[in-house]
This record gives sequence, C-alpha cells and structure tokens, in this order.
Amino acid sequence: MSRSARLVPAVATLLALALTGTACDGGVHGTPGGSGVRDPYFPKAGNGGYDVTHYALTLDYTPDTRHLTGKAVITARATKDLSAFDLDLAGLDVDSVTVEGRSARWNRAGQELTVRPHDDLDQGETFSVTVRYAGRPKTLTDPDGSEEGWLRTADGALALGEPVGAMAWFPGNNHPSDKATYDITVTVPKGLQAVSNGELTGRRTKGGRTTYAWHCAQPMASYLATVAIGHYDITRTTGPHGLPVLTAVDPTQAEDSAKVLAKIPEIIDWEETNFGPYPFSSTGAIVDRPGDAGYALETQTRPVLPADQLDTSTLVHELAHQWYGDSVTPKSWRDMWLNEGFATYAEWLYKEDFGGKSAQQTFTDLYKGDHEEIWAFPPARPSSAAHISDSPVYQRGAMVLQKIRQKVGDDTFYDIIQGWAAAHRYGTADTADFTAYVEKKAPGKDFREIWKDWLYGDGKPDHP
Ligand SMILES: [Zn+2]
Repeated sequence: MSRSARLVPAVATLLALALTGTACDGGVHGTPGGSGVRDPYFPKAGNGGYDVTHYALTLDYTPDTRHLTGKAVITARATKDLSAFDLDLAGLDVDSVTVEGRSARWNRAGQELTVRPHDDLDQGETFSVTVRYAGRPKTLTDPDGSEEGWLRTADGALALGEPVGAMAWFPGNNHPSDKATYDITVTVPKGLQAVSNGELTGRRTKGGRTTYAWHCAQPMASYLATVAIGHYDITRTTGPHGLPVLTAVDPTQAEDSAKVLAKIPEIIDWEETNFGPYPFSSTGAIVDRPGDAGYALETQTRPVLPADQLDTSTLVHELAHQWYGDSVTPKSWRDMWLNEGFATYAEWLYKEDFGGKSAQQTFTDLYKGDHEEIWAFPPARPSSAAHISDSPVYQRGAMVLQKIRQKVGDDTFYDIIQGWAAAHRYGTADTADFTAYVEKKAPGKDFREIWKDWLYGDGKPDHP
C-alpha cells in the first residue's frame, strides 16, 4: 500500500476522534514502520519508525549443547505513528513478544520479526518491547565470505557483529544509524567466564551457573556488541586518568600476548594526545585462540583480537576505532571508510611517532608501489557489499587523510581529526558531513580536487 493511500483514512480517523471527543489512546492511526533503513549495501538491515534508546539482554548459554535462551527488553521511541514495527533476528525461535507489557502479535519472514502491538504507538511515545527467544544461534557468512554472528570457539562462543551479525543473538534495530546503551547479562556454566562490552557490574553463582552483568553506559551500534564465553584470564589495570582496563585472554595465549596487551595504557594515552579524550568509561581487549575468529574487530570498549593477529599495530588500529567508528559511527555501510581510513591512518601516525616511516612516506610508497587493489574503487563508494572491507576503504581511505594533511598542515590537521571526534561524539556521521566539516575548519582552502580524485574518483589519481 502506498504512503499517500494510507494518509487519507488516517487523517479522517483523527478528525473523527477529535469531533467525537474520543480519547486517542492508540486506535487505528498508525502504519507499519518498515523493514529496512535503505542502507545502500544492506537494505534489510535496521528498521523504520522507531529509535532504540536501550537494550537489556539477558542470555543463558551452554557451550556443550550450544543452546541459548534469551530475553531482550528493548526501550524505544516511536518516530511516527506505528501499527507495527520490525526487529531484525536471524534464526532462533521466538517464544513470546510483549509491547508495554501486553501480548503482541508477531510473525517472521527471513530476518524480519514483525511485531503488531495491541495498541498503536504514537509518534514520540517511548515504549518497551520484550522478546523471549531460544535456540542454537547461527554463524552468518558475509557477502565477502567472512564469518560473523555467533562463532563457536575452542572452549565456548564469541559474538561478532560487523556488519549484520548481531541479529544472530539478539533482536533489534540492527543498523549503525540507531545507537543505544546496553545491559548485557550472561549466565554460563560455573567455571566459565562471560565477557562483554563496558563495565562488569555484578557476578553471582547459583545452582552451578554463574551470571555476569555488563553495563555499556555510552551509546553503541549493534555491530559493536560482543559476548565472549569460555575460559579467560582476566587482568585489570588502569590507563590514563584512572581509566579501567580489563583484558580477557584465552589462557593458552596469555603468555604470548601479555607484552603487547601491556601497551594498552600507553596507546590510549598516545591516542588521546592525537584524537582527544577517550570516549568511553572503560577499555581493554578480548584475545582468543588463532582460528576462533578470522579477524580482529573493534567491539566497543573491548576489541576482539585473535592471538595470531595481536601486534602493536593491530592494537593501535582497533583502539583508534573507539574514536572513529565506535564513538563517531557511520550513518550507513557506505561510510565505512570513515572507520577504516582513520584506524589505518592511526597505524601510520603511530609508526611516524615511534621511529618508523612518516605517514607521508607510507603514502608515497603505496602510491608508487605495485598495489593495483588500492585503486579498485573510490573509498566513499565501495563497489558492492562484498567489498566494504577491501583495501580502497582502508588504505586509500587513509590516503585521503594524508591528502588533507598535505593541504592544511599539521596544526589544522590535528584540529580537524580531534574536532571531528568531538563534534560527532556518540553520534553518527556520513562522508558529506566529513567533507563539510573539513571545509569549515580550513576556510579558504580548496578541497575540490581531493574529494573528486581521492574520495569519489575512479582509478588511481594522477598526482600523489
Ligand atoms: Zn578496522
């Protein structure tokens, strides 16, 4: 049904209610929220019509049977009058759905869980939806072939969600444009650990099972939520100005990873000097065995690093994402270079500051070298969903930043990258926001060629 066709009866109903003086307590004025947010690469990701403010997830998992029982209490605000809305959930069995405590009708089609509340929701209304579900959570394969969602590990499980894997273990508005705070409570067999984002606020053991309660106080995109279940050595220390640092390391990897992980406080300190205040109330890392995950991911406050990829440069990269990606989050998956270009550039800067090549030298070497893959597509326009994690997004994204630095000089450049993190802290932003921000911070400079050739242009630019 088209939008305009629905508007006429809706207006007529409101008028009728107003004329008869009937209280408008729901009724029939809402329309469905929609099954996606028109992401150019993942059109089904996310949902329209509401904005989540908080997820309270209560999970129970047994690695031996791979059985998960979950309850998600989602607090959201309707952004339009709603007769129905969607949540994203892949696999698992839904047992019940309530909205504002009343039983709601629901149905499933693919990853869409469509909920029809007993009463329509009014635009601006805050509501709570509770979904009870269970089953064996799935591992999802991305368009580029990598695995995400719920991964089985040698001694437990690991949840990784970029770009869409969060829907494998909890229902929600699974798109970076809708960030929320989280409470993630996980119960596992006694003797195992369950590590997640943010701060541990409670732990209790009862009847042979241990419950860990984690609180993530700053807004987080769903793709950055994680749970790691298994045996872990937990180390607590502090970073700059008392920032709590918690690392969870698979005991078999503890010895080899200790030296690199000990650098977290000094890396955060160095990144604060370059990027501005660390945005979250704790930090750390989760280190699993080689093969448990095929890649590192900047899960919020506590990046996941497979032991075979744990080196200083990767740690610098994933921690830089806490500013660029986690705090300032892309509005859509097209803007992925705002994550990866910055995190890659952080590696270049770290090298420059600690006795390695300058960022300009790294740039020149890439430009002059035999790296055809860098020029496959422009960083701000990945060629397809299968390529959002390819080299143009990372390397050429970082090269865009070096081009800006060439143009404005160091003082203004650091003002720009710090100011960008501050201006959009805890929010979302896209490439147009970024180019407008750069132009505002460097009035009188002409960036048109950089945007045209380096950001949006096909092929290798003519001049380095
Ligand atoms: Zn990255």
